Amino acid sequence: MSALDDLVTEFARLPGIGRKTAQRLAYHLLQQPSAQLERLAETLRTVGAKVRPCQECGNLAEAETCDICRDPRRDPGVICVVEEAATVLAVERAGGFRGRYQVLGGRLAPLEGIGPDQLRTGPLVTKVKGGEVREVILATNPSIEGEATATWLAELVSAPGIKVTRLARGLPMGGDLDYVDGVTLAHALSARQEV
Ligand SMILES: [Zn+2]
Repeated sequence: MSALDDLVTEFARLPGIGRKTAQRLAYHLLQQPSAQLERLAETLRTVGAKVRPCQECGNLAEAETCDICRDPRRDPGVICVVEEAATVLAVERAGGFRGRYQVLGGRLAPLEGIGPDQLRTGPLVTKVKGGEVREVILATNPSIEGEATATWLAELVSAPGIKVTRLARGLPMGGDLDYVDGVTLAHALSARQEV
């Protein structure tokens, strides 16, 4: 297999990139000056070495904890639970949310062998038990698996004095929250309903 084939194969592994697009990206890169290829390679190496999950919430971080967990202005009493770190970015871009997050690292998918033990819920449960949480917002994706995960989570975090809410209905079913536009996402968040 040639170096070019290897590159196409790597691109084709990325979400939403088919073989054709992978080829187009690879050929495009090869037309760039080699300094630019070096820069790209260096950037990939750096993120691979530096970026890791936040110890506290699972969001991407370049230190033990992420910027949001370290920000004293963010309300630790409201926690928005999302499937992937990319959704944190989408909610932040939508604006208006001043609480903190818990990134599960996936959703319940029994057919793929992803059960409760594979999801990152420990810190959330600890915080709920510790009494520092007033509201848990279930912002899993609007898909069958996301809904099932939300139903399971609602039970997991249910405790006296804790409000459990779900994003307002009307989000495109089967989609990923990170692809929903900011206005729609901000509305779904502000119109959230108690479950
Ligand atoms: Zn964090």
